Amino acid sequence: MYPDAFEYHAPETVDEAIETLEAHGDREVVPIAGGHSLLPTMKSGLASPDVVVDLSNVDELHDISRDDDVTRIGAMTEYAVIADDERFQEDNPVVAEAAAVIGDLQVRNVGTIGGNLAHSDPAADLPAAVLAADATVHARGPDGERTISADDFFVAMFTSALEEGELLTTVEIPHLGHDDVGVYLKKASDSSGYALVGVAAVLETDGDAIAGARVAANGAFGHAMRLTSVEEHLDGESLDEEELAAEAAALATDGVEPYQLMDDEQASAEFRAHLLEVYVERALEEAIDRVSG
Ligand SMILES: Cc1cc2nc3c(=O)[nH]c(=O)nc-3n(C[C@H](O)[C@H](O)[C@H](O)COP(=O)(O)OP(=O)(O)OC[C@H]3O[C@@H](n4cnc5c(N)ncnc54)[C@H](O)[C@@H]3O)c2cc1C
Repeated sequence: MYPDAFEYHAPETVDEAIETLEAHGDREVVPIAGGHSLLPTMKSGLASPDVVVDLSNVDELHDISRDDDVTRIGAMTEYAVIADDERFQEDNPVVAEAAAVIGDLQVRNVGTIGGNLAHSDPAADLPAAVLAADATVHARGPDGERTISADDFFVAMFTSALEEGELLTTVEIPHLGHDDVGVYLKKASDSSGYALVGVAAVLETDGDAIAGARVAANGAFGHAMRLTSVEEHLDGESLDEEELAAEAAALATDGVEPYQLMDDEQASAEFRAHLLEVYVERALEEAIDRVSG
């Protein structure tokens, strides 16, 4: 199918992009990044924007910069660039590993971190990874710049904390400490490759104890969420405790109301809850193995 006709703009700076987003009054104006989610919705008639603002030529959105503690990834950085960055794989493996298992090579060469997070698809891989990584999202709009913690970014299914006319510009990802570990594991849908369930886990360690844990899931709920009961169970526990991963994983749906679980033709809510527990346990076992080895 062909999308409805639309006006096309390709600004070269973030400020110009924001002005273009703002300049069209009541007409629907949307930014386009990789287009892998937006174009199918336009072609199927689910979205019909009047104006499309292409971010491809905005050089500053393609930058990756780093200092000792953080890596800053421009919104237009493709998954393949993130997954293949060897230094980033060491500095924060949880986000690099999630980027590496998105879709297939074609999707990874075109889809962007900014588009993935802004779209807030419940089955996307990066949302749980940035939650576990304790990332900060930078946004710029007509009222200037602001930062949004990953914890506050995913509001509902396909809804982020970005406001109308605001662009996600950069994702700032803290580096893990020397003895800390990060893991992302997913059960991919056989048909689409999206996450039926994906689990991201970061463990901070102090000797043979867990000094802090951030564990988050995609796919299971209407939007990516941290699994706080799992995190609380892990906090302060010894890494040598034999049943630790299983005991923590058993709390994966603790406090979750049944309506919060995704339930669709790909997997029932009950099966997703089961998958979630299994993948939390596997991710924690892998993380614990990495600490010791
Ligand atoms: C075959 C296939 C398989 C896929 N498999 C997976 C998978 O396994 N895991 C996964 O996570 N994803 C998967 N995807 C989704 C893919 O990663 C999408 O590309 C992604 O969700 C959106 O990124 P994009 O750069 O293509 O954004 P676009 O499609 O261009 O935009 C998506 C939305 O975000 C908005 N937007 C984009 N950039 C910005 C910005 N900087 N600021 C504000 N708003 C912005 C757009 O207006 C639009 O509403 C798959 C897609 C396809 C086609």
